[in-house]
Amino acid sequence: AYVEKTRFTAADLLEGLDLLSRTFDSNTFKLSIHLGVYEIQEVPMPIAVMCDRAHLALSLVHGENGNKVEFYNDALMERTRLEKEILGSFEAGILERQLAIYLQPQVSADGDLLGAEALVRWNHPEKGFLVPGQFIGILENAGQIHYLDQYVWEEAAAVLKSWQGTEREGLTISVNISVNDMLHLDIYETMTDLVQRYGINPNHLKLEITETALMGDIEKYRKLIARLQNAGFEVEIDDFGSGYSSLSMLKDIEADILKIDMGFLRQTGNPKRSSVILNAVIAMAKWLGMRVITEGVETKEQVEHLRTLGSDMFQGYFFAKPMPVAEFEAKYFRMNAG
Ligand code: C2E
Ligand code: MG
Ligand code: MG
Repeated sequence: AYVEKTRFTAADLLEGLDLLSRTFDSNTFKLSIHLGVYEIQEVPMPIAVMCDRAHLALSLVHGENGNKVEFYNDALMERTRLEKEILGSFEAGILERQLAIYLQPQVSADGDLLGAEALVRWNHPEKGFLVPGQFIGILENAGQIHYLDQYVWEEAAAVLKSWQGTEREGLTISVNISVNDMLHLDIYETMTDLVQRYGINPNHLKLEITETALMGDIEKYRKLIARLQNAGFEVEIDDFGSGYSSLSMLKDIEADILKIDMGFLRQTGNPKRSSVILNAVIAMAKWLGMRVITEGVETKEQVEHLRTLGSDMFQGYFFAKPMPVAEFEAKYFRMNAG
């Protein structure tokens, strides 16, 4: 419908919708009306395009209860366009191997190299070099992240395989598991099959699961993690402290390693309190029999402080940024590259 702008406000519209839905309300039905609005700026635009834009605004309220009015804006259009581009080029990206893992070193408290985390990068033919923040969320929302993650896990397994029989053999690679992976894949089957096919030690492939991923169905994930550990994998809780019920999650999930991100503590302005919390979290992890890795360490002071608090491992720009596999090998294995 077309309405003159001077004749209504968003509040008027909602009031009208409320009135309308009340007339239809009964004990069995609750009517919700959603309205998408496009404010006409250029009159020469085809009406079909205007309607598309109103529909796009409408898609914002998809699945919500109650009456809602949403307005179209250019940022919304831009976001939708970006999502389409990412999703439209994803399959080719995988097939043409535009996606690659970068390795960021993980070191012991003594500074010895223990392994690396595999972090995905996308060398996009049109959009250039993309970091996870630019496409992971889009793939997750579209239910496609498991295709990416399986690709990444294969890459990591292949690297571990290539290190076999060299002095690099004992090094580990950590991979990320997303919540959505658990909905689409049998993680236990996928992981055990992977290490079997490559003939690698499951102990060398560490599995990082974010704590928020585990919130959904604690009992199910508790069992999954126990089975993975029985099969020889080590499980890390990633981004510990970013969720709202970190402590209650720890009560039920028996992971091997707790991964704390310095970024979460940096954001809050009070360094004294942050330090007290870190101290307590690290001590608690130890009491629970877990090892601790702190990631996002950027300065020597942080490393020294965390070491006195008992952090066993470190990962962060202070040591190195994520880098291509070949660069990682050249940097850390100059002597015995094989
Ligand atoms: P994450 O797993 O917590 O990975 C750590 C992130 O912190 C990485 O960002 C890393 O580059 C960044 N980082 C490391 N050291 C420092 C530091 O000292 N300072 C700062 N400011 N940042 C540091 P990246 O590579 O952009 O990845 C972001 C997130 O995207 C990851 O967070 C992970 O949740 C997700 N991700 C990356 N690769 C994959 C993947 O293959 N699959 C899935 N599902 N998610 C992935
Ligand atoms: Mg991670
Ligand atoms: Mg993390």
